This record gives sequence, structure tokens and C-alpha cells, in this order.
Amino acid sequence: MKVELIDVDGHNFPNLPLMKISAYHKTKGDSVRWHNPLTAWTDPPDRVYMSKVFTFTPEYEYPINAAEIIKGGTGYNYPNGGEPLPEEIEHIYPDYGLYGITNTAYGFLTRGCPRNCDFCIVGKKEGLCSRKVADLREFWKDQKEIKLLDPNILAAREHKELLEQLASSGAWVDFTQGLDARLLTEENIEIIKRIKLKMVHFAWDNIADEKLIVPKLQLFKEKTGIDKRKCTVYVLTNFNSTLQEDLHRIYKIRDLGMAPFVMVYEKQTAPKEIKDLQRWVNNRIIWYSTEKFEDYSGDTKTRRQGK
Ligand code: SF4
Repeated sequence: MKVELIDVDGHNFPNLPLMKISAYHKTKGDSVRWHNPLTAWTDPPDRVYMSKVFTFTPEYEYPINAAEIIKGGTGYNYPNGGEPLPEEIEHIYPDYGLYGITNTAYGFLTRGCPRNCDFCIVGKKEGLCSRKVADLREFWKDQKEIKLLDPNILAAREHKELLEQLASSGAWVDFTQGLDARLLTEENIEIIKRIKLKMVHFAWDNIADEKLIVPKLQLFKEKTGIDKRKCTVYVLTNFNSTLQEDLHRIYKIRDLGMAPFVMVYEKQTAPKEIKDLQRWVNNRIIWYSTEKFEDYSGDTKTRRQGK
């Protein structure tokens, strides 16, 4: 069988389902390659898989000549994410070579999240319970780096066992989707301390969570002494907060010795001041050289309020 793949979003971040689909077909002896719209007219594939993660990514622009076309991903199935991959594909060791990746492993140890935040599709797609779905060895074979994609690993009953697996790996670990600061405890911080942290992300999305989140971030900083270059806290903006509330979170995170990172909900239609805020914070050259937002934006209204 001739199988071809299309990563509709582009190649900025490797598409894990496509790497698993590739591995699955290769184990069956099928030929797998990236789809080429030109060669497909003279040598049409039997099946084309198209994967699209983001809803805002435009549809693939070329006509596809194939006996069968299978589309998947949240970009095609918002908000429920569509059908999950069949078990025999979901749990296969990914074909990292598809993207030329040699020393990084990507995967999920858990799926699901009980928080059900209004702006997030994880609960609708993966369920409202965080649960173990794999051991590390399922997608890691001694690569130097692990990029973990779990939405809320600390909410899983098995999280300590899974953190221990990450600590024992000796690999550099990047918790790409963030750890839920509200679920940090002295006990799980002790295990996290033994993990070689490449990067750790937290999120403070809602100003109302200050009393729950700030003391936990303080505890994490105190116990780990983590450098701000390795510890980022996402700040959701343009959802249900004012600019003043956004600035309050940003300054507080900086005071904690961590690095804020502004996320903009529906960025395409966000007001200019939010886009300016994002640039001020996320461009680290500007961030470390300009202490106050009003000094960057020239916003006299913010300056008068002394924020
Ligand atoms: S805690 Fe994170 S993963 Fe869970 S619903 Fe909220 S944003 Fe999504």
C-alpha cells in the first residue's frame, strides 16, 4: 500500500499522530512518504492522511489525487477533536525520522484534565479525568530530550510514578503544556527536583486564582531555586481580564523570579494594546530592558494609574 501524509499546519512542530501513523504503516510493509501534489497525478497513493491541529490554519490548497483521504485533528474536528487514533496506532513508537528528529522524544504519559477551563478543548476532547495512558518507554528510547505534551500530568492519580520515570530517564525534560501549579505539593516537588528540567511552564490564566497559584509558585521557587530562564508562567489575555489584571499577573510573576509569557486568546481580533503587551513581555530583549509596560507602549492612561 502506498501511503502519503500531509501536515496541514506546516512543519514548525512535529505532528505526533502523523509520526505514529507512519510507524504503523511501515511495520505493515507499506511505503510512507510526504504527499507531493505533482507526483500524485502520475503515481497516485492508495491513501492520504491529512492532519490539522489548529482551527486557524488554512485548508491544504492543492487538489488531492488518492483513492482514499483520511482527515484528522482538532483543526478539522473542533471542539471535540474527532475520533481518537485506533489503539494499535496510538500506542506505537513514533517514526521520529519522518521529521528528521534524532535525539528528542515526544509523547503523552497522561490524557485528560478535570479543570474544564472555558477556553480549552482538552476536557471535551480527552475527558474530564487526567489518567495515565502510557509508560515513558512507549515513546522514549534513550533520547537526550523529552518533550512532554500532557495537558495536566499532576492531576493524574499516577503522577508520582510517572514523574519518577522521568527522573530516572536522566533525559532533559520539557513540560511543554505546563504543570498545574495548584496541584504542587512538597512531595511532588521533591520528585520534580530530581528531573533534569530543560524548561517548566505553569499557567496563571484567571486573576481570581491568585491565592491558589501564587503561594504554590513561591513554594516551587523556594524548593527548587529554579532559574527564571527555565521557568515560564503563561498569562492568558484577551479572554476575561482587563489590561490592569493582566499587568498585575505579569508583575507578580516577575516578582516571584519567574518569566511571564503572554498568551492571547483569539489573537487575530485582539486589540492593539494586547498585541503590544504580548510583544513587550515575550520579546526577551524588550522585556529585560523595559521595566514598565507604559514605558514600552507610551500608554499615558496606564502611566497615570501608576501600574
Ligand atoms: S488546566 Fe490547562 S489543560 Fe486543563 S482545562 Fe485548563 S487550560 Fe486546559
